[in-house]
Amino acid sequence: MTEPADAEARRAVRPVICYPNETLPVPDMDLYRRALASARKVGEVLVPPREARCFEVPAGGFFRIVSVEGPQVGDLNLWNRGDLAERFYSGKTRALHGTHLTEGERMWSAFPYLRPMATIVEDTLGWYGIDPFGGSVHDVIGTRCDPYTGNLLAGTQYHHCCHSNLTRALAGHRGMPVSEAEGHVHDVLNVFMCTGFTRETGQYFMKASPVRPGDHLDFFAEIDLLGCLSACPGGDCSAEHSSDVAACHPLLVEILEAEQGALEGWRPPDRNGYIGGHGA
Ligand SMILES: [Zn+2]
Repeated sequence: MTEPADAEARRAVRPVICYPNETLPVPDMDLYRRALASARKVGEVLVPPREARCFEVPAGGFFRIVSVEGPQVGDLNLWNRGDLAERFYSGKTRALHGTHLTEGERMWSAFPYLRPMATIVEDTLGWYGIDPFGGSVHDVIGTRCDPYTGNLLAGTQYHHCCHSNLTRALAGHRGMPVSEAEGHVHDVLNVFMCTGFTRETGQYFMKASPVRPGDHLDFFAEIDLLGCLSACPGGDCSAEHSSDVAACHPLLVEILEAEQGALEGWRPPDRNGYIGGHGA
């Protein structure tokens, strides 16, 4: 293919940020951090390797995902506990915050709600930054490992991909058929996963997670939440993620309750203010 004469000049045009986020509502991180420091653990859920488990967090509470036993990646889904139609929107979260999330950034819900569901308050892997390969931790660029892609690429029938784990766990938690639960499963926050895009080919890559036992990612629940976390069959995702080959470890989810009065001045976010209608 021949390049136009001004190809280099066109490539040299400086990029602009699609969604300048200076006008996003700013979470009161000092308030959240103080409330977290005095919060009390009220429950926990251990997610077994190659399985998923659901957990519930009321608005104003916290949940903490903890690495235990060994390096392990988790795939996280979030819903409004009272309305499963309001669920995490990975794509718009990526557009607003970038490819990977850390402290002070938020998981946003789908249209027409588009409001913060959860805010990251503490990230013990926040030091990692962006490595020389362009990799970073906790991405919103992958989707979730699933049996359909495995079948497409390798003809396999594997039932413990994160997509299936999340589906089974939600079906069990809500007492709904697997076929119904599957429709609620959505693109995830890849907790502890280290990923990026290759500069040469733009391909999605993963590498061994830098997470170690004791590391954790802490969230503030902005609305009543139903969460579901899968301990990915990829383990630390250093090699592959749709088989029983990788070493896998459990993940611990702790639920914490803020002290009385610790959230003075905070209130849950409203649904998005667009009036609807779409000009029709
Ligand atoms: Zn997975």
